[in-house]
Amino acid sequence: MLTIENLHASVADKPILKGLNLSINAGEIHAIMGPNGAGKSTTGYVLGGRPGYEVTQGSATFGGQDLFELEPHERAAAGLFLGFQYPVEIPGVSNLQFLREALNSQRKFHDLPPLSGGEFLKLAKEKAALLKMDMEMMKRPVNVGFSGGEKKRAEMVQMGILNPKLAILDETDSGLDIDALRICGEGINAIMRKPDKAVLLITHYQRLLDYVKPDFVHVLADGRIVKSGGPELALELEEAGYEGVVA
Ligand code: ADP
Ligand code: MG
Ligand code: MG
Repeated sequence: MLTIENLHASVADKPILKGLNLSINAGEIHAIMGPNGAGKSTTGYVLGGRPGYEVTQGSATFGGQDLFELEPHERAAAGLFLGFQYPVEIPGVSNLQFLREALNSQRKFHDLPPLSGGEFLKLAKEKAALLKMDMEMMKRPVNVGFSGGEKKRAEMVQMGILNPKLAILDETDSGLDIDALRICGEGINAIMRKPDKAVLLITHYQRLLDYVKPDFVHVLADGRIVKSGGPELALELEEAGYEGVVA
């Protein structure tokens, strides 16, 4: 599904990614862990096509297509979903309006007709229920006045509605209390744990991985993957710290 080879990327002319290799197949859940400043968020931004993140070397293919040839909206339409560490607020636009617009623009890209209001509402209710999001909250402006946990749950509702092939989730667990963590974890499993989908979880901590069990765990340090293993690697990291495991 996703193959990254020797990826080098810079932000403001500063090299951040320095030869990243990673291959993700359909049906797999991968976790990237690593110390602050390792380049975890940069990896997500580069794959999503965020302006200012410059690829200087290497390649990434997504479903056989050259990812870096695609505009950000084309990547999304091709089935790439990016969950942000810091979700943005959009005053004046309700969650439901935003999601309907996003879904229908992706459908248009694939020459599918827009969903009717009724069809969309049915889908939104189903996905909101998965994340225990009240429909009243779905009518509120995107993320405005939402708690950290509500923002992350709203983002998981968005993922459920857009139904991506690959979700890259950056610190979905940050700022979550125990209940929100479990709800988000179960939501990720319900939406993404399918033979034709894959997830890349970016996280500092083991705790989300108690709910969303990864098939592979990678340690990112100084812009490249320095160690890979199974779920037990996350536990080792929790015990020994990054320095203990990577040294
Ligand atoms: P992580 O998510 O692993 O904590 P990041 O990918 O956010 O790390 O950042 C990696 C490095 O890139 C850090 O040293 C950070 O300071 C630097 N960096 C990120 N964004 C910018 C930017 N816009 N300008 C300059 N440096 C940046
Ligand atoms: Mg960080
Ligand atoms: Mg980060």
